[in-house]
Amino acid sequence: MNILIIADHNNSTLHSATLNTVTAAKQLGDNIHLLVAGEHCQQAGNEAATINGVTKVFLADNPACNHLLAENISAIAVKLANQYDYIMAPATTAGKNILPRIAALLDVEQISDVIAIDSADTFKRPFYAGNAIATVTTTAAIKLLTIRSTAFAAAEKNGSASIEDINEIQDFGLSRFVSEELAKADRPELTSARVVIAGGRGLQSAENFKLLDAIADKLDAAIGASRAAVDAGFCPNDMQVGQTGKIVAPELYIAIGISGAIQHLAGMKDSKIIVAINKDADAPIFQVADYGLVADLFETLPALEKALSP
Ligand code: FAD
Repeated sequence: MNILIIADHNNSTLHSATLNTVTAAKQLGDNIHLLVAGEHCQQAGNEAATINGVTKVFLADNPACNHLLAENISAIAVKLANQYDYIMAPATTAGKNILPRIAALLDVEQISDVIAIDSADTFKRPFYAGNAIATVTTTAAIKLLTIRSTAFAAAEKNGSASIEDINEIQDFGLSRFVSEELAKADRPELTSARVVIAGGRGLQSAENFKLLDAIADKLDAAIGASRAAVDAGFCPNDMQVGQTGKIVAPELYIAIGISGAIQHLAGMKDSKIIVAINKDADAPIFQVADYGLVADLFETLPALEKALSP
């Protein structure tokens, strides 16, 4: 089976979700090509060529592809499409922007947020905020899939694929890059962090939310939040975990003062180990927690910080 993956990257490095998508692709076939489209993206292309399982990298290095402008990149993929059985992308913001356009141009359906591959034409994907899993079979000649990165391990980088330049690239002028505001953080990125400590409404204020900082520093953790904490202004909305926030699956997820509404669980319940601290023994978060502590967080957090101090 021939597979084309649209890489997500920032021109110099690949988004880690691209590596998870390659692992998913390996379950479908062994002729895996990556399209790295960007501007001054040779470095990302070189990195793509090292991914285990990738046999060829298409490098589309052109101003028309900068900032992953979806209209121009989807047109490149459509030109390549007839060589492939599958076109895949990570279910990141970029992947979710580009793949539906390819699906529309090819007039085939897309299967989104794939979490398991049952066979060459049958896939599992969550719906109802992860409360139900659909098994979907497609008869499409070219199957288009976005891959939920938390469901697949990252492919290793020990390969050496060839790199082929793509030069015929059109700027359709349908969208243009205006500006971007990047959140600067000294901490690991939320969706790829090994440890996440997340706070909820139980923390009561923005001032108290900072109690998570010292523990995050000690565990080299990213900080997440429930939507209630974000809506109350305790922290910025890029920290939100859940159905309408980020999907995470770290080795360790520590939920502090979070009740465990289904919309929050949708974003973190695939974490390897879940620890919950909540003063309400009946809080639903305890149903998914591996370790639960029924306690007042204002007593527990200082004690935890002290215990983690050398
Ligand atoms: P609460 O439910 O108010 O829970 C606070 C918890 O803190 C309680 O369990 C309480 O016992 C505990 N607590 C209080 N004081 C202490 C203390 N001193 N010590 C220990 N524990 C204490 N939510 C998300 O998180 N992410 C989403 O992406 C998301 N998307 C949504 C999408 C839709 C369409 C809708 C309708 C809702 C969505 N929500 C989302 C909101 C979700 O339904 C909940 O309202 C939200 O998750 C609740 O946040 P919380 O657990 O922080 O607050």
